[in-house]
Amino acid sequence: MFFFSKSRYCLAWQCPKLLWLSKYRPELKPEDPSLQARFDEGNSVGDLAMGLLGDFTEVTAFKEDGRLDLNKMQELTKQCIAQGVKNICEASFNYNGLYCAVDILHKEDDGWAIYEVKSSTHASHIYAVDIAYQKYVLENCGLKITGTYLICINSDYVRGAELDIHKFFRVVDLAAEVKDELQNVPSLLKKAKDIYSLKEEPQKDIGAHCRDPYPCIFWDYCTRNLPKPNVFDIYRLSFNKALDFYYQGKYDFETLLYDGGITNGKQLRQLLHSVSNQGDEIDKNGIKDFMNTLSYPIYFLDFETMQPVIPQFEGTAPYQQIPFQYSLHYIEKEGGELRHKEFLAVSGEDPRRAIAESLCENIPLNVCVTAYNKGFECGRLKELAASFPDLADHLLNISDNMKDLLTPFQSGYYYNKAMGGSFSIKSVLPALFPNDPALDYHNLEQIHNGTEAMTIFPSIKDMPPSEQETARRNLLKYCELDTFAMVKLWEKLKEVII
Ligand code: SF4
Repeated sequence: MFFFSKSRYCLAWQCPKLLWLSKYRPELKPEDPSLQARFDEGNSVGDLAMGLLGDFTEVTAFKEDGRLDLNKMQELTKQCIAQGVKNICEASFNYNGLYCAVDILHKEDDGWAIYEVKSSTHASHIYAVDIAYQKYVLENCGLKITGTYLICINSDYVRGAELDIHKFFRVVDLAAEVKDELQNVPSLLKKAKDIYSLKEEPQKDIGAHCRDPYPCIFWDYCTRNLPKPNVFDIYRLSFNKALDFYYQGKYDFETLLYDGGITNGKQLRQLLHSVSNQGDEIDKNGIKDFMNTLSYPIYFLDFETMQPVIPQFEGTAPYQQIPFQYSLHYIEKEGGELRHKEFLAVSGEDPRRAIAESLCENIPLNVCVTAYNKGFECGRLKELAASFPDLADHLLNISDNMKDLLTPFQSGYYYNKAMGGSFSIKSVLPALFPNDPALDYHNLEQIHNGTEAMTIFPSIKDMPPSEQETARRNLLKYCELDTFAMVKLWEKLKEVII
């Protein structure tokens, strides 16, 4: 029997091939280590929203093997409706194999309203698509639907001592958009059924739909026959512009270089280096000018942050970047010893005051501090300064004296082919030090990037003590490598201008 869910419906809406690959070739999906954390966070938001409209009954039920018991959930939903329950959470329905669970089914005077909960701060159109499918299923199950709403996150909310869910969430009436989308449901369902019956992968070229509404997880698979690198790897070339070239058959770098369509200097340099195998391109004067802005003692600073959707601490907003760790390398004078200091907060506690105090203790006033992409570090320092007025002068002094090690690379003073279309430290470092295992993030244990760091840190508080120790040690090693990498880049810049 045909079984379909609202998430599959949304896949079909984005791309028929995406639907087919999700069903028949799920092994092609790349691994996403942060997926579980995002899933858990979405569940936390959903749980929090359950109480938004008053008392509620949740009908979630599980089988012995831990999977959802959809039949039981449908049965419980019927019972709740019969008993006049005003808010049914995860209210479940099945119309001829079309299944859906409504986040909150709310009783209104003359019928029922569907409330869909999302962790997003924006009412993206795909949510209307999702709700239209739910409305279609429920109406065909005999319910009168009198309202269709999105519950999403209010980005203006700042948490007080307690979390106020009525201010944290905002409710958006999607009646008009859902009405428009509802007309498309029968025809899209028919197409989806046809796609499901295909034995062979459907033909569908890449296009704007590969990023709308979400970047497609099968992108690497669908572009596997394009040369590497290709038009979609060009530095800061918009996706739509890249698609234009692609549709004209101009996707390899050689064609793009000689075609005349690319005029941006940085993009042309990327193409030229890639095609001609030139060695390092070094503008000594540009590097000298940059290095002259630096002075001893010199500090190398890097933060790690977390971004909880549900604000955990007073005075913080949804998705605010909260620094919980920093690494600091420094050299007092020319030829001086490289020293290191670091800070890692206690998982589960508000890290902001402690990290702000530690920064003020370890970075003197009026010294030269470097960061890689300093806008990020300066932003966090300014937020800490706003939170702690007694430390503000010192924190802002650090920010004001910050220099950006990204500048010489982004400005093109030092370029080589291996940087490709990215000037992030994760691209520049291996390009300049291709065979140095001490600078290879792959050789680290457990934590290899900022996303993994921000995922693991909040979960440390729930780990057994031995795992806590390991995770903390691995976090420290990861962040230390970030600033050590900055030191190595700075040394390389010094070396090339001698
Ligand atoms: S990458 Fe594009 S064409 Fe391929 S499945 Fe995804 S959305 Fe469809």
